[in-house]
Amino acid sequence: VVTDEGDYLRAEDVLRDADTAMYEAKAAGRGRAVLFDATMRDKVRRRLSMESELRLAIETGQLVLHYQPIVCLDSGDLVGVEALVRWYHPERGMVWPGEFIPVADDSGLIIPLGDWVLGEACRQLGVWQRTLGPDRIPSVHVNLSARQFVVAGFTERAARAVNEGGIDPSSVHLEITESAVMQDVAAATRLLRELKSLGFQVALDDFGTGHSSLACLHEFPLDVVKIDRSFVTNMSRGRHYTALVHAIVALARNLNLEVVAEGVVTADLVPPLQYLGCQYAQGYFFGHPVPAGQVAEYQPPARLSEA
Ligand code: C2E
Ligand code: MG
Ligand code: MG
Repeated sequence: VVTDEGDYLRAEDVLRDADTAMYEAKAAGRGRAVLFDATMRDKVRRRLSMESELRLAIETGQLVLHYQPIVCLDSGDLVGVEALVRWYHPERGMVWPGEFIPVADDSGLIIPLGDWVLGEACRQLGVWQRTLGPDRIPSVHVNLSARQFVVAGFTERAARAVNEGGIDPSSVHLEITESAVMQDVAAATRLLRELKSLGFQVALDDFGTGHSSLACLHEFPLDVVKIDRSFVTNMSRGRHYTALVHAIVALARNLNLEVVAEGVVTADLVPPLQYLGCQYAQGYFFGHPVPAGQVAEYQPPARLSEA
């Protein structure tokens, strides 16, 4: 209870707001002091209401997966699709993962959400493989958050998801970011080993944006590196970016890792990527993320090799 003049009438309100300011300070970095103001309270309220709405969304099936093509740069063939979650909110319409994944991460809802995503992606791949044949859509790529895999039993649940989908674990690529790995290096390494021994493929997502990129590449049991789209998209702007992409591709290939370039937005990015030896690509030029029903009709852009 706070009066119009901003005076507190109850000690617990002071503590609550002090707590809020403390979280703000922590989020801003180490050793910060932050003075509470009312906008923070609104932020907390919005976050709490999003959290309860998201919980309901998971329970009532408001989440949907869209799928974005990943293609082979030489042949133009579809090699897989990345599952990207969307929330069809009854009033707000489509909500992007950038908005609710952080809330899911902080609240622990990422566990049921992530389980649903993995289960649904495996189920859908099974349906595609049975109806279209095994080669039309060879793999599905699923994003994992840090919190998801430090929780006990993740590997068992992942194994169950592929079983129930009737697919092979080698057709599932699990994407994790460097920052997720860095949160608990030992736990992440252990888990990635387990997942690989079950047959899953492991990809490092958004490569180049973390703080320990090089260490990640040789220390972690990986199969695939995805070059962050900020490097790829900017290749048309300057040679510095091309040099960076070149170095990443060379490094990855020397370590026997496959390379996917993210953020291929225009045709002019294709020849330099081919020239640099990048094998796979993803981005709006090849296709936007689309609902499952549109994936079977996917056609890669014509004349890829002459792009
Ligand atoms: P991400 O895993 O790096 O996924 C690629 C993001 O880049 C997607 O955004 C995709 O729509 C977008 N994108 C693809 N091609 C292009 C392009 O050519 N240009 C540009 N500007 N963007 C492109 P989206 O769907 O908004 O997802 C954002 C992030 O949210 C993902 O980044 C991923 O980190 C996270 N995310 C999405 N779905 C899930 C999920 O099921 N679980 C978890 N834990 N995270 C997810
Ligand atoms: Mg990804
Ligand atoms: Mg990415």
